[in-house]
Amino acid sequence: MTTFTTNWNYPTPIKFGPGRIRELAQHCKANGIQRPLVVTDAGLAKLPMIGEAMAALTAAGLKAGLFTDVKPNPVDRNIHAGAHVFRDGGHDGVVAFGGGSALDAGKAIAFFAHQSRPLWDFEDVGDNFLRADVAKIMPSIAVPTTSGTGSEVGRVSVVTDEASHTKRLIFHPKIMPVTVIADPELTFGVPPAITAATGMDALAHCLEAYCAPGFHPMADGIALEGMRLIKDWLPVATREGRNLEARANMMVAATMGAAAFQKGLGVIHSLAHPLGAIYDTHHGLLNAILMPYVLDFNRAAIGEKMARLAAYLGLERQDTDGVIDWVLDLRSVLAIPDTLGGVGIGEDQVDRIVAAALVDPTAPTNPLPLTAEPVKALLINAIRG
Ligand code: NAD
Repeated sequence: MTTFTTNWNYPTPIKFGPGRIRELAQHCKANGIQRPLVVTDAGLAKLPMIGEAMAALTAAGLKAGLFTDVKPNPVDRNIHAGAHVFRDGGHDGVVAFGGGSALDAGKAIAFFAHQSRPLWDFEDVGDNFLRADVAKIMPSIAVPTTSGTGSEVGRVSVVTDEASHTKRLIFHPKIMPVTVIADPELTFGVPPAITAATGMDALAHCLEAYCAPGFHPMADGIALEGMRLIKDWLPVATREGRNLEARANMMVAATMGAAAFQKGLGVIHSLAHPLGAIYDTHHGLLNAILMPYVLDFNRAAIGEKMARLAAYLGLERQDTDGVIDWVLDLRSVLAIPDTLGGVGIGEDQVDRIVAAALVDPTAPTNPLPLTAEPVKALLINAIRG
């Protein structure tokens, strides 16, 4: 049987395998980081894995600091506070340790701490990323502890603007961590509901990347295999948290989702971003609920792709309805609600959410062009069921 231990250098160096967290200090040193700031969230900071990592860094002679003021769906306040701690502590790199929230916060802190312009000047609009002083972008090492966002190999940090309740993307090619330590044992304690919702986030990345228009067979291939791994292993990982094979396969599937979505995403994400910013609901859970409604919405543009996907997944019915049925079954096995109404989202903010979705950076790569009335109908459908 495979040990699941390996090194990859694509899309960034990835040290994959159980127990690889023990190499953290070694990889800090290899990347010239002597004074790492470990960025995680307050919940994770209470788990032994953070204390053990801090002790190991100190034992290796590194002057490590800890920053834990990161909320799920991190906000600009968290990035500013972290950048302050980074500068004050004379840190020379970040260890971003946690789920997507901690990874995004840690990456953004390393990127932003020594820049001279305001944070939103680097929002992923046009060529804003050219404003960054590249020499002052500090390195980050990513240690994912959920299998969902793939932020460990992503070139964006998702940060909520508290003033406007908008999720904004901070983009720069050099925001990509210099090394990833992907240790599936770190995910053994993720509770079933978070395992399910984060796994569905990975599926949303693969599915939307695969459906996005444009010539990118590399991304399509990664996305297809990512979806196969999720089909086979997400129910197992949710049921049996300490199953190494399931956790390892889900960890790589999440990474594959983010590698694939360089091709683009679609209206699942265009809606999940404003919904997450306004209601502070878990991103993967929103994606999971929206997914079948969006497949139906995009039906006219994705028939051929859905037939190929259904064949690859070995589904009984090899068309769009076959894929929708599979997603519905998966959602029910994972005990994910059927409607946005089921997670407390009402209809009072519908127009605001639709307006934000239409200008979200993920909107242009939806398979069908997005306009207000159909997107509003889609959203109301997903709220009511
Ligand atoms: P998360 O990071 O918010 O974590 C969810 C919860 O799980 C937290 O309470 C956390 O403390 C807990 N947790 C994490 N690891 C754990 C472990 N090993 N054991 C026990 N509990 C653990 O959730 P997430 O889904 O990983 O990340 C969501 C965030 O990522 C959102 O802000 C979303 O916008 C962002 N995101 C970013 C990208 C990107 O490309 N950068 C892509 C998708 C989503």
